[in-house]
Amino acid sequence: MPRRAVYLAKETQMHSTLTVPPHREPSAVRNSGVRSVWAGERMLPILEEYFNLLLRVCGPQKWWPGRTRFEIIVGAILTQNTSWRNVEGAILALRRKALLRPAAIAKTRVEDLRPLVRSSGYFRQKARKLKDFVAFLEAFYAGSLTKMFRTPTEKLRGELLAVHGIGPETADSILLYAGKRPVFVVDAYTRRILQRHQITHGEKTYEEIRGLFERSLPPDTTMFNEFHALIVHIGKNFCRPKAPKCSACPLACFLPQPIEGAE
Ligand code: SF4
Repeated sequence: MPRRAVYLAKETQMHSTLTVPPHREPSAVRNSGVRSVWAGERMLPILEEYFNLLLRVCGPQKWWPGRTRFEIIVGAILTQNTSWRNVEGAILALRRKALLRPAAIAKTRVEDLRPLVRSSGYFRQKARKLKDFVAFLEAFYAGSLTKMFRTPTEKLRGELLAVHGIGPETADSILLYAGKRPVFVVDAYTRRILQRHQITHGEKTYEEIRGLFERSLPPDTTMFNEFHALIVHIGKNFCRPKAPKCSACPLACFLPQPIEGAE
């Protein structure tokens, strides 16, 4: 059986072009009539208003931290279920061993990868995931990221999702930040903010929320890059699980009603 079939059977910088939008009074945003489309969720032009406001107030976030496409992919895998601070140590350890290349990971035994990625948590699984990604890359694209990123977005997305340990958020982070494709990354912060702003509710799937953003915004890689990073900024600094800091949050002008327990 060909290697690819066997495999299947088993299972930056882009911030220079954004223009900071002109200031709009929050009341003008609130009264612009966009709330009437919230219930439909077919297209949501207000999402662009969210983005414009966040970019103006918070500025570009300069994501993704990574020197190469492969380093971005490694970071996207290692950051699952942990903070970026924990990933940085693992990236540094891999760099010191000159392992931030697909061929180098491929040659390294999974047992030897584990201690290097330990700081990122779930290190056994994550070492395995790195090995599985480079096995996929070798099987499908002869180990070449350049060849991989020549693949049309939806096809590549499907292939990435078939790799063990790569879920939708990781696949879309790879496509957006390493592949520069206009794919929107949805995470827990996105869900929390949308729910608190009554844009969506907890039963919406990842694909439904991704589709909502991609239908409602121009297919602009730079915008998608910044918007996700800005959402993470708001999630970390204001929209905490308990006692969100709404009074200081730039998105407070969009909040339809006060959040219980908010500061
Ligand atoms: S205004 Fe409050 S609910 Fe809305 S994003 Fe900010 S902290 Fe979260």
